[in-house]
Amino acid sequence: MRLKGLGVSPGIGIGRAVVLRRGGGQVGFGVPAARVPAEIERLQAARMAAREQLTNIKKRLAGGAGAEHSYLFDAQLLMLDDRMLIDRAMEIISADRVNAESALQQTLKEISSLFDRGDDPYLRERKGDVADIVARLCGNLRATGEPSDLFRHVDGPIVLVAHELTPSLVGQLDWHRIAGLVSDEGSWTYHTAILARSIRLPAVVGLRDASVVVPPGALLALDGSSGEVAINPDNETLQQFGLRGRRRAEYEHSLDEYRRLPGVTADGVKIRLEANIESPDDAQRAREQGAEGIGLFRSEFLLAGNGQAALAEEAQYSAYLRLVASAAAATVTIRTFDISETQLPIHHAGVDGARAPLGLRGIRLSLALEDVFQAQIRALLRAAVHGPLRIMFPFVSGVDELRAARKAVAKAAETLRARGEPVPDVPIGVMIEVPSAALTADFLAAEADFFSIGTNDLIQYCLAVDRTDDRVSRLYEPLHPAILRMLRFVARAGKRRGIRVAVCGEMAADPVLLALLVGLGLREFSMSPTAIPLAKQVLREMSAADMSRVAARALRAPTAAAIQRELTEALAPQASQP
Ligand code: PEP
Ligand code: MG
Repeated sequence: MRLKGLGVSPGIGIGRAVVLRRGGGQVGFGVPAARVPAEIERLQAARMAAREQLTNIKKRLAGGAGAEHSYLFDAQLLMLDDRMLIDRAMEIISADRVNAESALQQTLKEISSLFDRGDDPYLRERKGDVADIVARLCGNLRATGEPSDLFRHVDGPIVLVAHELTPSLVGQLDWHRIAGLVSDEGSWTYHTAILARSIRLPAVVGLRDASVVVPPGALLALDGSSGEVAINPDNETLQQFGLRGRRRAEYEHSLDEYRRLPGVTADGVKIRLEANIESPDDAQRAREQGAEGIGLFRSEFLLAGNGQAALAEEAQYSAYLRLVASAAAATVTIRTFDISETQLPIHHAGVDGARAPLGLRGIRLSLALEDVFQAQIRALLRAAVHGPLRIMFPFVSGVDELRAARKAVAKAAETLRARGEPVPDVPIGVMIEVPSAALTADFLAAEADFFSIGTNDLIQYCLAVDRTDDRVSRLYEPLHPAILRMLRFVARAGKRRGIRVAVCGEMAADPVLLALLVGLGLREFSMSPTAIPLAKQVLREMSAADMSRVAARALRAPTAAAIQRELTEALAPQASQP
């Protein structure tokens, strides 16, 4: 069986499916035969714990106001001994060799469809009780350890299958065990896709129901370019995937020579290429790929899985210091936390954690949380003593927010001086990723030291398309005439004021779009480190003069499709890849 989604990180991945189920956080995977008795034991232990919990609930209810309803839990207690539930789950563990969580989910499916078939409304209602008891059993089974412990009982390479793979989950996993990622939702610019590309992990997203149809433990082969996923492939299919994998590796190898060459067009126009990274440890890898600096460090990744402790000034200072040191004198641009309130690891008055993502997010959230913001800026200013560092604010919508953020920097500097610490001059820049910022770029350019255009968000907010929603992601169109006009406007505004303007959105990592951006007058880019060698190759084969002629024609075209035609004719032959 084959599924087709969107390939967002090229390469071939082959491994056993570990399935993360939607909602309950249960993980399903195949287990070796020797592990079967241990899974059965886990299930028995979960049943015993459930019996004790339900008996306690009953006792509590019996003594209080809900006494007349305590009988409801008798039904659930009886279910714990029903052959259709636990005994059946044990059979599934032995027959299908899957973990206890998968077996329980399968049992729940069987019982539910049985209840649905009958027309007894009483039985249909009991479905809720079965789901409740299964959720309780899964809760008792759930590993209490680290997410990286998830794969303890799986042999060989793993393909992670999930409804949605959040960056914070993926960020905590042992990547060496993972051969690929597969998810129901997602898009090219979703952060997990960006992360996957930067660590060269093949990924296919937007499969809609992969987390339901892929059996835990199944062998999966995925192609992160074409978006194909084969479930339990036969030998011939496996060989085809293997061949494609070798071709991809050869192609990547052929780009190696470009890593060390400068970024320059065929007619000698210098193009600065920097890297987007998510961990201080990636800086060295970025240099190896030929990055001239770090154009975007997404500092919010420091918060993943680390809780409140990650917000402390000292913890941040040591992370930024590590980053500056491993960048080895190249400039590092650190973006302050770009999170929405749901991702904040602390509770704070006025921040209710429910209204994301267009509520308190990015610079707005930072300005609302003075203590958190001050600690981050102090850590950044201290790290800047040790190497060239720039501070960048995300999600700025206009001049007022930039002024407020600059005030916050001045205050943090004051605090450090009062402590007797040196405070270097640090360039302050803004991400241009909200349409209102793009359209006021001339005003912002008068007060910012640099710009970095975040096309990922700029496109989704300009076109009103959620970039992570696969149902509308085809409307996410970097070539919309509105986007081209905004980009040209921002590039010109920066040039007039003599400030540096970079593009750090994923658009720059696409060779054809990169050529268009150069044609629009942009000379600085930041992208996933792995995209840099190809970008250099493409730039070195085209002249900036040609690119600006193509861009001028593109700017006159009224639709994305017409712009695409202009580009394909002029540029596509140079920019194709397997
Ligand atoms: C962007 O929006 O283009 C960007 C680079 O930021 P992020 O992808 O982290 O939102
Ligand atoms: Mg953004």
